[in-house]
Amino acid sequence: MSNPVVLAKYNQLSQKGKIIAEYIWIDGSNNLRCKAKTLSKPVTAVSDLSWWNFDGSSTGQAPGHDSDVLLKPVSYYPDPFRGGDNILVMCECWNPDGTPNKFNHRHAADLLLKAHAGEKIWFGLEQEYTLLDKYDNIYGWPKGGYPAPQGPYYCAVGTGNVIARDVIEAHYKACLFAGINISGINAEVMPSQWEFQVGPCEGIEMGDQLWVARFLLDRVAEEFDVKITYHPKPLKGDWNGAGCHTNVSTEKMRVKGGMKYIEEAISKLAAKHDNHILLYGKDNDLRLTGRHETASISNFSSGVANRGSSIRIPRPVAIDGYGYFEDRRPASNIDPYLVTGIVTETICGSIPEVDMVEEFKRESK
Ligand code: ADP
Ligand code: MN
Ligand code: MN
Ligand code: MN
Repeated sequence: MSNPVVLAKYNQLSQKGKIIAEYIWIDGSNNLRCKAKTLSKPVTAVSDLSWWNFDGSSTGQAPGHDSDVLLKPVSYYPDPFRGGDNILVMCECWNPDGTPNKFNHRHAADLLLKAHAGEKIWFGLEQEYTLLDKYDNIYGWPKGGYPAPQGPYYCAVGTGNVIARDVIEAHYKACLFAGINISGINAEVMPSQWEFQVGPCEGIEMGDQLWVARFLLDRVAEEFDVKITYHPKPLKGDWNGAGCHTNVSTEKMRVKGGMKYIEEAISKLAAKHDNHILLYGKDNDLRLTGRHETASISNFSSGVANRGSSIRIPRPVAIDGYGYFEDRRPASNIDPYLVTGIVTETICGSIPEVDMVEEFKRESK
């Protein structure tokens, strides 16, 4: 049982100059884990942060007889929960033999993104998610029944149309405090489903920021006794699924004449549809049905302002003749490192050290 009034008494105590660093990593089930350590002075660079380790046999990341997995700090953020000089530390997972842990897809994506750094590739991710109560019912829905059909809920205002705005507001503020490049929020088509957008972010920063924004959401939701699910189709039937639309541009696409490069990228994506779908999230077949503002999982399509296609070119981009495109296929539960990695591989070119499909398959080896 949490007791915010009693906790407040302890939160105001001096930390006597010590810093708390909450190390965060991705586990073997695409969820986040964290543990905290005390540092003796404030951190001013990632290189101030030492590697650490944890028991990978408890997180689906290592066998019990060889359980140590190492944590390599890659970026850090002001901690909105503890305040002060306390920080959140995003980490990569490494095995003691010097190989990346099988769920560490950041390392491969980073190699690709660094190789193509000259393209100045930007991403913007639209993270959709659904709120659940402690018993896994959709949060705020009538007990044993359903709300009125979809229609009034998207970008809604007003009692009965909106559920849990306080959770969403708290998360928005927490992201801004942490320095996450959150570009907005909105209520979604299904009641108790919401979206936040992060970006544009250049290169590997996209994956780092999205994972930390998810951590902030899970952590905020804890305080409200609400669960977050990133499942792409939390409820069968006439209820929208949840995606993670991936907006993409290279520097050439963002300037006059850019449409030519957008079209080139789209034809490269068309040729690799099946590979992309493999990396675009578990259970995405339940969501990409061709209904509820999605395209069918088995066909590639593209169009201007078409929310029923795999790739959408926003109307303003078509009018200007340059800008970015939106890949609508990725599910809400994607690993953004896999997605930014394969998009870069497909549109900018592969490098000898990395094959993103093989990278994904390492998970099940
Ligand atoms: P939608 O109309 O599909 O709901 P949103 O406004 O929710 O679009 O999200 C648009 C996303 O596109 C944002 O995350 C934004 O950061 C991103 N974005 C905008 N411009 C670019 C760009 N040039 N390159 C990549 N992403 C971009
Ligand atoms: Mn959106
Ligand atoms: Mn949306
Ligand atoms: Mn979108």
